[in-house]
Amino acid sequence: MLDRLPEFIDPILYAEQRRETIGRIPISGFSRLAEKLAANAGDVAIDFAFEKKGRVATVQGHIKAELTLVCQSCLKNLSWALDIPVNLGVVSSDEQANRLAEEFDPLWLEEDTLALKDIVEDEILLALPDFPRHRHECLVKQKAQAKKTEDSTIRSDNPFSILAQLKNTGDS
Ligand SMILES: [Zn+2]
Repeated sequence: MLDRLPEFIDPILYAEQRRETIGRIPISGFSRLAEKLAANAGDVAIDFAFEKKGRVATVQGHIKAELTLVCQSCLKNLSWALDIPVNLGVVSSDEQANRLAEEFDPLWLEEDTLALKDIVEDEILLALPDFPRHRHECLVKQKAQAKKTEDSTIRSDNPFSILAQLKNTGDS
């Protein structure tokens, strides 16, 4: 990987200088995201290009990560691959926000700089589903397994099946 990522960025200056910000941020560093995760190992990879488009400073690129969420159906871990396209236009007033081209989402700049981590975390939180679930029918499978266990419990408690088992053992 390249240099360490800056903690704070001045997106307008970066856009004027056409800078690129490429690197990784540990998943464990995102405090707001933490409550949605079942594990916080690994990194988020970011690849941002800053550029002026007309009068607007823009940030374009990608955020990639493999997160471990909790499946809302079966409550087991769920590996969730993210590849979020980033298209942000820096704004600091409602007027600028309203003028922003449709392809961009507003990136609000209220002070001179923004915490890079916050930009990334906001984008990830927006991209996460409210109710993440396994793509396969995990709950149906789990229910089927529970039923199977139940059936075998009933069978072993049933004196007739025990007799049958004994009989089978005797025959062999
Ligand atoms: Zn599941």
